[in-house]
Amino acid sequence: MQLIEHSDSPRYVRLHEADNVVVVVNDQGVTEGSVFPDGLVTVEGVPQSHKVALVDIPKGGEVRRYGQIIGYALEDLRRGSWVKENQLAMPSAPPLASLPMCDAVPAPLPPLEGFTFEGYRNADGTVGTRNILGITTTVQCVTGVLDHAVKRIREELLPRYPHVDDVVALTHSYGCGVAINARDAYIPIRTVRNLARNPNLGGEALVISLGCEKLQAGQVMHNNDPSVDLSEPWLYRLQDASHGFGEMIEQIMALAETRLQKLDQRRRETVPAAELILGMQCGGSDAFSGITANPALGYASDLLIRAGATVMFSEVTEVRDAIYMLTSRAQNQDVAQALVREMDWYDHYLERGAADRSANTTPGNKKGGLSNIVEKSLGSIVKSGSSAINGVVGPGERVTGKGLIYCATPASDFVCGTLQLAAGMNLHVFTTGRGTPYGLAMAPVVKVATRTELAQRWPDLIDVDAGRIATGRATIEELGWELFHYYLDVASGRQRTWAEQHKLHNDIVLFNPAPIT
Ligand code: CA
Repeated sequence: MQLIEHSDSPRYVRLHEADNVVVVVNDQGVTEGSVFPDGLVTVEGVPQSHKVALVDIPKGGEVRRYGQIIGYALEDLRRGSWVKENQLAMPSAPPLASLPMCDAVPAPLPPLEGFTFEGYRNADGTVGTRNILGITTTVQCVTGVLDHAVKRIREELLPRYPHVDDVVALTHSYGCGVAINARDAYIPIRTVRNLARNPNLGGEALVISLGCEKLQAGQVMHNNDPSVDLSEPWLYRLQDASHGFGEMIEQIMALAETRLQKLDQRRRETVPAAELILGMQCGGSDAFSGITANPALGYASDLLIRAGATVMFSEVTEVRDAIYMLTSRAQNQDVAQALVREMDWYDHYLERGAADRSANTTPGNKKGGLSNIVEKSLGSIVKSGSSAINGVVGPGERVTGKGLIYCATPASDFVCGTLQLAAGMNLHVFTTGRGTPYGLAMAPVVKVATRTELAQRWPDLIDVDAGRIATGRATIEELGWELFHYYLDVASGRQRTWAEQHKLHNDIVLFNPAPIT
């Protein structure tokens, strides 16, 4: 391991030899007249994570980062000038009809053997990283009662069952007042169903229903499904109560206690790293995301895949502009076609709302130096590492295969997190540049900062500082290995993430492209 002394002399990162813009690394940015080690002189001040022109770029010229075109200059850009978002015209999205398919499928990397974690084996073959009692719902109407019951279960029952990590209410806004037979209603319905099958709930999820709603309990739990235990009472309908609220709480608590007794019998056992199902996501991205945190995740993703695990990446609007790079890496035509199908579905979904993928970038992204969705996408897909893409799952669908999986979801943090939980992830990793306290109740969330400045400002929220890559204090490879070991520690319960320690979690937010009534 080579340690390079960090100094405040002007530094930039260039990611590809074809790039004609570079990104400023220094925490405070650089002032006008700053001289970089290669002799490049800034002609104006440039903030951290923003771009500097490496050469004179004429009006209409290509602006390249990651070796790809991120825009066309709307005016002459001088060498050493700050390249801003309003000086670039965004390229159009790659047409889906003429994508390269499976023409650059990476060869499998040598297997990694002997890596394990301590997990909870489930009856359906999956493995949990936590032992949680999940209580799901068929409709929002029950939320107030269930939240009240869960608070009492936590306070009065949970202390008696020390081997159970938590009790979680799976509350959501679906279930009634919705067009339940609409064309796209299968997405929220299968999401609710598959959330209850998440490996961290041990196949012991319960259902609380109101009684008269459109989404019926039978649609949430199916008979003959080995991933949920329906051999004992699993459902309570509030409208069955004959003695009001008090009876509802008593009934829910009694039902919960039967499951707590079962869950409390469970113990962790040593399982291969192949049982990990990691969901990767980014939020509050900046121009460092694609330089530090996401490449480290990509390296760790390759390691997990070599160990036989399942790794998911997501966020349709953040891969759409780089889709040609993914279809090239698809393991076979079926996978490539499935990628195209998901992009096409989403293009039409956005079109219906008279929007396109450019609606994705936020003011914070732009302040963080990301000019447009093309640049954001190129930085986002770096998370997927260098392995072949082995499969695709649709929104709310449960993953079955191993390897690198594209899980099609919106990029919204909570919607993506919810859909990755439904896909069956038992561990989540989240990279952030601008900073977010994001967390999930059903799976541990490892938060990785793209910049050291953020990691230092939020030492009790950020688990891993990937900014060390930009300042030369760690390599991508070193951080990738560090993440790999950290994942196994968190999965084993030896390490608790900050979000877990503070019990920070966002709501379950369903993706419902169908009408409500
Ligand atoms: Ca996101």
